[in-house]
Amino acid sequence: MTSTCTICERIKLIQAHQNPYFVYELTTGYVVLADSQYFEGYTLFLAKHHVTELHHLPAHEKLRYLEEMSIVQEACAQAFHADKMNIELLGNGDAHVHWHLFPRHNGDTPNPGPVWWTPLETIYGDDVSLDIPRLSRLKRTLSVAIEATLNAREAELQALEALTRPASHRIDSN
Ligand SMILES: [Zn+2]
Repeated sequence: MTSTCTICERIKLIQAHQNPYFVYELTTGYVVLADSQYFEGYTLFLAKHHVTELHHLPAHEKLRYLEEMSIVQEACAQAFHADKMNIELLGNGDAHVHWHLFPRHNGDTPNPGPVWWTPLETIYGDDVSLDIPRLSRLKRTLSVAIEATLNAREAELQALEALTRPASHRIDSN
């Protein structure tokens, strides 16, 4: 952690229950809504540990972080009925590793392309925390979708484990 890192400061607010955008805690990171919701459902997945590059995470944590990011972006797609997901890890402004997850909808930019073709003053022109009913609705929608996606993933892993378990260990009712 660095004392000047905006994302570390945001994480401190989450831990103090004072971050209005906080949605969900996973093993390797925190899910928050972006402050601005011009692209409705714009979500961030913040790494718990302050690293500036993905490959600076220990290998096991990196793999888990990637898997959890995949779960969050899948939930985001379902929650906000995305036609397409955009997933980006940039960090040129705030170097602390975090994913930008954008649920995209056909026609949401004048020409098909990245969100960054939209003027920044438009993308960052609102603060959803000023609209508490909307913020609450978006957070609840995403949180429910994350729970459902985690449950589905758990069921998939259990089915896979049952398939790969040695036959002698299977309970066969026949
Ligand atoms: Zn940081």
